Amino acid sequence: AKRRGRYTYAFYTQALTEGSTRRLELEQALKEGIDRDELVLFYQPVFDVETGQCVGAEALVRWEHPDRGMISPGTFIPLAEDTGLILPVGCWVMTEVARQVRAWLDQGLDPGRVSFNVSSQQLHNAPFVDLLEETLRSSGVPAGSLEVELTESGLMAEETIGLLNRIRGTGVDIAIDDFGTGYSSLAYLRRFPVEKLKIDRGFVEGVEDSPEARSIVEGVVAMARALGLRTQAEGVETREQLTVLSALGADLYQGFLRGRPVPAPIYERQWLITDTG
Ligand code: C2E
Ligand code: CA
Ligand code: CA
Ligand code: CA
Repeated sequence: AKRRGRYTYAFYTQALTEGSTRRLELEQALKEGIDRDELVLFYQPVFDVETGQCVGAEALVRWEHPDRGMISPGTFIPLAEDTGLILPVGCWVMTEVARQVRAWLDQGLDPGRVSFNVSSQQLHNAPFVDLLEETLRSSGVPAGSLEVELTESGLMAEETIGLLNRIRGTGVDIAIDDFGTGYSSLAYLRRFPVEKLKIDRGFVEGVEDSPEARSIVEGVVAMARALGLRTQAEGVETREQLTVLSALGADLYQGFLRGRPVPAPIYERQWLITDTG
């Protein structure tokens, strides 16, 4: 048993060392990547369920690593959160969204409302709202063009309502992301100055053939209605899903069915420049 124990120990030590070396490398690379402007935002169109019109976009970050190619946020956002690098990443995202929206407006294009993701650590870091105000001021972007997406897990702290009220005070909208996967209670929601609940892809996926998923979507839509909020379904991939979501009364949707996240120049051509002949 002892030998086995030692073997196991050695095995894990090696794995851990390898793991942490790789993490350190990745952390260092991300630090440099931020400085070298390797982050890039993709934009995914958002549609009105009733009219089918594109009404805005969600900005999603990617890391264009010189050797490893495009790294998805699912890989580096958790690392950024563990290492505190989420603060410079988040700051870059906010500044870049504002710069892009400003550029589109300056070209006479109407991007609608563009949302960006804010991790809970970033939200609870003291200067977040100051940075948001400063970003709005220096970019000259109308606050109504922007929306922040916050996850439920970030909203449970006591000081949250004050923070959300300050965000709302700037005129920027608040959406709750991945709604239904966290712990928001009706009591909380009533007190939060939010505009929108985003229905998590997991529920949208099952909406055609899982009665449970369908009931949850139905429940979220009913709750949103009662509170005067809008609902946005994410991850809509099939026509059938859209039909059910429409019948259930969802207001907005995004998903591969109509549009994947794409770089700004492609987004612009595909969704903002309407060919009027
Ligand atoms: P999320 O905020 O829930 O974003 C939705 C994810 O679903 C995106 O993945 C998007 O590309 C993907 N998606 C959209 N439509 C479909 C569909 O029809 N089918 C499928 N299978 N997937 C779809 P992505 O871009 O890889 O982002 C993953 C997560 O990384 C995001 O989940 C968000 O939590 C985080 N993230 C992305 N950008 C940022 C950022 O700028 N800041 C922070 N803090 N987190 C970010
Ligand atoms: Ca999101
Ligand atoms: Ca989401
Ligand atoms: Ca999700």
